[in-house]
Amino acid sequence: MKKGKLIVMSGCSGVGKSTVLGEVMRRRDDLRFSVSATTRAPRPGEVDGESYYFVTKETFLNMIEKGEFLEYDAHMDNYYGTPKGQLEEKLKTGSVILDIEPNGAFAVRKAWPEAVLIFIAPPSMEELERRLRSRGDTSPEQIETRLARAKWEMEQGAKYDYVVVNEQVDACADEILKIIAQVAD
Ligand code: 5GP
Repeated sequence: MKKGKLIVMSGCSGVGKSTVLGEVMRRRDDLRFSVSATTRAPRPGEVDGESYYFVTKETFLNMIEKGEFLEYDAHMDNYYGTPKGQLEEKLKTGSVILDIEPNGAFAVRKAWPEAVLIFIAPPSMEELERRLRSRGDTSPEQIETRLARAKWEMEQGAKYDYVVVNEQVDACADEILKIIAQVAD
């Protein structure tokens, strides 16, 4: 059976990654999505087993101990990790998209050197700051934390195989689909 590719996607908070990824998945229904485990609480509308596997810290630590993760990281006071079992199952049927932050992306590259790393960047840091501030649901302190994190993430973007700028969702999804067609089909 033809094995799929691992496509690792990252992008700074506020860059519109979920919207772009949603569009990519909508247009290529053969792509599968890797479901991570997390200790953070579900947000409204998130479904257990689809958005994430929502687990307790105790369960997460247990999974680490049993070697169930391809990679995991602590991020904003919560744990996030990629369970190996579901990933291997999905790879049997085609290419799989992982939505993970840069530390996780580099850990995946180490464990799985043929993985393709794609970074979604904002048109500029000024634009990212504007988008973060216009959300209205974030305190000034949280905005500063996210901006500092975003700066670090942007620097990590230079180490990815591809950097795609999200100026406009459709065009960004187009570019990602072209890359996937090149590397995985
Ligand atoms: P959120 O809480 O907003 O869903 O995700 C926060 C961050 O965690 C995002 O940057 C997301 O890409 C990252 N993330 C989600 N799942 C994983 C994972 O399995 N491993 C790692 N390392 N990061 C993840």
